[in-house]
Amino acid sequence: MEKKAYNVMQNPLTQYRQDGYPKQLQEYPGVQDDMDPTPDCGEETYVGTGRLKGRKALITGGDSGIGRAAAIAFAREGADIAVNYMESEQKDAESLAELLKAEGKKVYLIPGDLSDEEFNKKMIKEANEKLGGLDILALIAGKQVSQTDIEEVTTEQITNTFKINVFSLFWTVKAALPLLPPGASIITCSSIQAYQPSPNLLDYAASKSAIIAFTRALAKQIASKGIRVNSVAPGPIWTPLQISGGQEQEKLPKFGQNTPLKRSGQPVELAGAFVFLASQEASYVTAEVYGVTGGNHLG
Ligand code: NAD
Ligand code: MG
Repeated sequence: MEKKAYNVMQNPLTQYRQDGYPKQLQEYPGVQDDMDPTPDCGEETYVGTGRLKGRKALITGGDSGIGRAAAIAFAREGADIAVNYMESEQKDAESLAELLKAEGKKVYLIPGDLSDEEFNKKMIKEANEKLGGLDILALIAGKQVSQTDIEEVTTEQITNTFKINVFSLFWTVKAALPLLPPGASIITCSSIQAYQPSPNLLDYAASKSAIIAFTRALAKQIASKGIRVNSVAPGPIWTPLQISGGQEQEKLPKFGQNTPLKRSGQPVELAGAFVFLASQEASYVTAEVYGVTGGNHLG
């Protein structure tokens, strides 16, 4: 299919792949470059218009999927970026850095494991030093493990899901708050799973509800500092999370087709929401959850 700029008017039903996906399994957290087909993160289509000029952004989970789409968009909107990911995802992180550096953007790579409290602190310190400040936190990293029977959900799995999806938000924000100026924006990544939880995602869906409560409470707590906090809640999006243990294999051939738009989303379709919430255009938007779901609305 011919790729038009993401912001050119076209039919959303046919804008991206309508077919389902071949079954495929990778080890967590997966490498997007090895996926069939490769998710569209806007590499060839996202066009920036200076909406984040001079901004300094840290993006967790920025190597692939939704985080990569946010990273590409932030950089093309004029921000310098630092990107966190796991060491096993070096291939995706390097291809991102290569793409953006060739366009003259500043990109710093900070690999490390967010389930480790000390690493979260280190990551913030390093991002702040490398970028010469910090004013956007896009906390997008997440873990999803599909289990159809609660008997199979081990304490280790629950702990990991909550450490990565929820605890790391506390650790990261605690370390970053003294550094963030008025006007800064924090964006978390929740999910439609917080509103319409699937039977195979007990711990994940619970963690995504926790993210929404965290986001709203934090927004109220730090509004007095002039810092906004919002969440993006995606629906079914084609990313490595879906093929590295996050989804049942049998669901891949029809993945996303039960939405009113009858297809899964591509990561680039989330980019605009992240840019809006990060930018000054959202100056009166805080404690909000922004759904990008293909029509299966939140609530
Ligand atoms: P993805 O696999 O591309 O991104 C998830 C990222 O999380 C990985 O790239 C990895 O870098 C990071 N990560 C996981 N465990 C980590 C750890 N221990 N330490 C550091 N980083 C770690 O998949 P995605 O779907 O783009 O996921 C991004 C966010 O979107 C996640 O929070 C996910 O829960 C959320 N989300 C995804 C969907 C979907 O359908 N894909 C739907 C709703 C919400
Ligand atoms: Mg990845």
